[in-house]
Amino acid sequence: MTDFSGKTALVIGGSRGIGAAIVRRLAGDGAAVTFSYAGSAEASAALAAETGSKAVQSDAADRDAVIALVAGAGPVDILVVNAGAAVLGNPLELDADTVDRMIDINVRAPYHAAVEAARQMPEGGRIVVIGSVNGDRIPFEGAAAYALTKSAIQGLTRGLARDFGSRGITVNAVQPGPTDTDMNPGDGPMSDMMHSFMAIKRHARADEVAGMVAYLAGPEAGIVTGALHTIDGGFGA
Ligand code: NDP
Repeated sequence: MTDFSGKTALVIGGSRGIGAAIVRRLAGDGAAVTFSYAGSAEASAALAAETGSKAVQSDAADRDAVIALVAGAGPVDILVVNAGAAVLGNPLELDADTVDRMIDINVRAPYHAAVEAARQMPEGGRIVVIGSVNGDRIPFEGAAAYALTKSAIQGLTRGLARDFGSRGITVNAVQPGPTDTDMNPGDGPMSDMMHSFMAIKRHARADEVAGMVAYLAGPEAGIVTGALHTIDGGFGA
């Protein structure tokens, strides 16, 4: 457990999966949490009631909405950008608009959210972006566009850590491997193939990823910045 009492946190994309686990962890450890969602109004209302957090509908594919969300949240101590989409398949057949929407959610939103948050963030603030081990390694077909978005998070993390370091603000990426969520169910059709690349052959639980986020958002991680933190059962080893 980390003591986040007195801290405010904004989680972009917090209604389900890894984002919901992050909301639970930060709120459970005492932070005042606001989270956004796109379509899952019912799940968001239930999570807000369960955790005492605040849910806000905001589409991460809409740059101006992202900026307005972050600006409107006021100065937050912790920003976590988790919202993500995975568009997989033969690149010769994928719809170009669908691919570009994924790039909007996975790349443009984290960049603009982080910059906007830093405008008001107090000294010692924390920015955590959820990338993926697929930013480092893609051992199967059909994931080039998704991988490019997660590799982009690596440059964003390194660069913004330099930009905000003088204010003690840290910027880190968490890079999960296969994690049991709606996006990638532990018993889904690709599970056996994914486990074949792993040293520990199971999906992570979302709360295991949230634990790494809590460490990076907490007081012990003040000197940890510009870094990629992989939690993947050895998928990338
Ligand atoms: P899920 O699909 O289970 O959940 C996605 C979350 O992001 C939901 O809360 C969803 O909100 C939100 N979201 C998606 N699109 C938008 C949008 N346009 N605007 C606002 N919120 C949005 O995914 P995961 O929990 O599995 O993934 C979370 C992050 O972790 C992503 O960035 C993903 O790329 C990354 N990741 C996941 C891995 C895995 O194996 N699961 C592995 C590596 C990385 P709503 O419910 O309203 O749609």
